[in-house]
Parts: sequence; C-alpha cells; structure tokens
Amino acid sequence: MAKQDLIVLALNPSPTLDLMEHALPAAGFGLGIVHNRSELDRAMQESIPALLIIGDKFVDQDGLSISAGILERFPTLPIILYADKDTTGFAKSALKMGLSGYLYAPLKMEDIVGEVQRSLARARQLGDWLRREVKRTTASLAEKAEFSESERHKLEAIIANIQDGVVVMDRNKNVILVNRAVRTIFNLGNKELAGKPLADVISNADLKALLDRASDGPLKYHEINFDDGRVFNAQYTPIPKIGGAVTMQDISYLKELDRLKSDFIHTVSHDLRSPLTSILGYTELVERTGPLNANQQEFLHRLQGSVQHITTLINDLLDLGRLEAGFDTRRELVQLENVLKYSLDMFDTQVKKKNIKLTVDVAESLKGVRANPIRIRQMLDNLVGNAIKYTQPEGAVRVSMSMQGDQIILKVDDTGPGIPPDEQGRVFEKFYRATNTVDGVQGSGLGLAIVKSIVDSHQGRVWVESTMGKGSSFIVLLPVQE
Ligand code: ADP
Repeated sequence: MAKQDLIVLALNPSPTLDLMEHALPAAGFGLGIVHNRSELDRAMQESIPALLIIGDKFVDQDGLSISAGILERFPTLPIILYADKDTTGFAKSALKMGLSGYLYAPLKMEDIVGEVQRSLARARQLGDWLRREVKRTTASLAEKAEFSESERHKLEAIIANIQDGVVVMDRNKNVILVNRAVRTIFNLGNKELAGKPLADVISNADLKALLDRASDGPLKYHEINFDDGRVFNAQYTPIPKIGGAVTMQDISYLKELDRLKSDFIHTVSHDLRSPLTSILGYTELVERTGPLNANQQEFLHRLQGSVQHITTLINDLLDLGRLEAGFDTRRELVQLENVLKYSLDMFDTQVKKKNIKLTVDVAESLKGVRANPIRIRQMLDNLVGNAIKYTQPEGAVRVSMSMQGDQIILKVDDTGPGIPPDEQGRVFEKFYRATNTVDGVQGSGLGLAIVKSIVDSHQGRVWVESTMGKGSSFIVLLPVQE
C-alpha cells in the first residue's frame, strides 16, 4: 500500500476539528493532531507532514504568524488556514502570506477533502518542478565540469607536445606544469616538480635572472646559455589569475650562424682596411704632386669623403666584432663626466653650425664606474653624435647624468624627429636605420648596435623612449661597483 500523506491539524477544539478527524482518515490521509505550539514544532521536525491545517487562532497565538515562521523553514510545505468565520481580508492575508489555501466554517466533508487534495496536488507540482530544475542544473554543472576536465587534458597534451619549452607557474613562482621539452632542456628526467619553487628545481643562473626581472613588466626576452654551447631565447608572460609562463626556444643554430657571419665580416673588414688606407694616402699625395683645377679638387674631396665613410664603417664593424667576441676586458675606474667633456669638445663645431642649444646636467654625487674608458667614450660619441645629427638646426640636446641607488643614469634627450614606435625596438640592431630619419642624414646603422654591445659588456641596460615629432631620449643604466 502506498504511504499515506500525513496531515497535521493545529486547531483549537471545535466541531470542525471533530469533522476533520473523521473526514481526512476516511479520504485516506494519515492524521496528526497537535494541541500546542511545542507539539506543533516537534511534529514539524520529526514527522515531515505533507500538509498542515492551522487555525487563525491556535491556542492563544496568531495562526498567520506561526505559518510565516514555518514557511521560512519549510518553504514548500502546503498550509491551509482555517477560521471560524469568513472575515474581510482573511482569505487575502492567507494568500499574501504564501499559504496554499483557506477554509472557514461552516464546512462540509467534501469542502475539507477537496481543499486538502487541491493543495497537495499543487505542492506536488511544485516539488516535481523543483526536482526537475535541480536535476537540470546539476546535469549542466556536471557537463561543464566534464567539459573543462577534457579541455584540461587536451591543453596538457598540446603543451606536452610543443617543441618549445613551456613552464607554467603560480603567483609564487611554484611549478604548475612543465612540458617534455623543458625536462629535456634541463635534463630533469621524470622528477615530480609540481608545487615546487621553479628556482629550486631548475638551478640555472640565466633563468633565475629572468624570474627576478619577471615582476618588472609583462614580457621579457632573455637568453639562457648552457656550458655545452646551447642557447635558448626565453620569454616570461604573466597569466592573469594563475601566475606566469616561461617559454623557451632553441636558438643555438641562429647563434652559430650569427657567429659565422660575424667572423666573416670581421675578416673581410680587416682585409679591406689596408687598401683603403693606401687609397686615402694616394689621394693626399695627388694634391701635393701638382696644381689641380677646381673640378679635380672637388672630385678628389668627394673621393676622400667616401673613403673616410667606408673607413668609419669598417672600423665600426671591427669594433662590433671585437665587442661581440668578448675581447673588451679592460676595466678601470672611469668618471663618466670627464669622458663626456672630450666627447662634447669633439661635437662643438657641429653644435655651433646647427645652432643647437646644448645643455649638460651632471649630478655632483656621480660615482665612478669600472669600465673601459675608450668604450665609454665611443658610447657617448655615438649617443650624443646621433642626437646632434638627427636634430634640426635650432633644436635642443640635453645630456644628463645622475645616480639612482648603485646605478648611474645617463640620458641623452633631443628635440629631433622621433622614432616610429614600431621601430624603436629595432634601432639597436646592426645596420638598422629607421624610416623617418634616413633621408639626407648619413649613417651606417651600426652606432646604436655598438652602444648596446658596450652597455651589455658593462652589465648595463640601454633603451629608447621617443615620440614622433617631439624627440627621443636614449637612457643608459650602468652599475657602479664599489
Ligand atoms: P646611424 O648610423 O644610422 O645613425 P645608429 O645605429 O646610430 O645608426 O642608429 C640607428 C637608427 O636609429 C638611425 O638610422 C636613426 O633612424 C635612429 N636614431 C638613432 N638616434 C636617433 C635620434 N637621436 N633621433 C632620431 N632617430 C635616431
């Protein structure tokens, strides 16, 4: 037999209560009669009734407010409010409260049973709907969980098979995952790495330096060198809400190509220098061997200018070759401001000729750097020379030197044409000449490459900040060693 629906009656003694006591069991319902508030509360807790019929007055309390309390705890329980007579507003307040029905005397048996059945049917409908909704929501949640799980596997498989090394870390730089390539690059075998600090599991000075710099900004390019000659290009990318990722590409073959190319350029440059010296020598001799007409004189000067230009280019190439090969090891204590004076003297004529307003601002506390004075001079010549060369007549150039912590900051600002934003990252490359300035201004595109090599070999940093039409600032940071 199906389980009977239990109906709790919370009514003061009355003929209606007696009627219900007979009518409801006769209609197949189970019955529980409570006589006071505490019995009612216990019945609600222990017997899980299917429906409650409560008097608008129960013992000496207000049935409506008791119902409100019960509905708060059992929102889906159908409650019927009973009153001895139909007063104005009685039905309205019952429905407003969210009760499922109301009854008032005089009552017939079928009135009672009819209202109870209607209320139960509505409660069942509501219950069914709720169950369906819960089922639907849980199913879609489960589907989502399943989806993200399978997505995760897919993603892991992709990362695992990528040729480049990939390490994903949390915000504290603990490993979340490393792919196969990273295990091979750093010879990590099958060690369990998840959750461990990356700097502990991979002890590589270059990688550590990259991680140290990672908080400076979004994307950092960095070379990771190995004793066996392998070189990797690594980038750090922050990942919102996760931490960050380091990716690494093997660039050993590019480095080798670069070295071969540099060797070739070095050899060719070297061999070209001697014949050029003799060409220059003979052009000077021609001038002395007899009177030349104006045209001959003019052509000879042009010839000398061109030979001078090629000689400068070759000297730059040879310098770059030496710097890149790591031959620049001379170090002594150098006061930058002293070297700057020589450099500015050299440009004096050009500054006057273009009527450039030159300002020099050197902090008094400037410390010395351990450096090669010849290279420092070359660096200053190139930066100051470019500022003067690219700035229009009547423009301004400012050279400043200051201390920040244990670093010297050298800044060369000009009011020149500026460098297009997408080319600013390239001006330090060998032979690169930006599109805005090439017209009319001579150059080889090697000056800034030499500056970068010099700054690198002194463990410094150099970069450019520039606005088109306003000017450029080249900034060099050089560490001061006590
Ligand atoms: P270059 O011999 O062409 O001057 P550099 O390597 O010194 O070679 O500079 C590379 C390029 O960067 C230049 O061709 C020029 O386009 C740009 N550049 C360098 N310095 C400045 C500057 N102060 N103002 C504007 N552009 C500059």
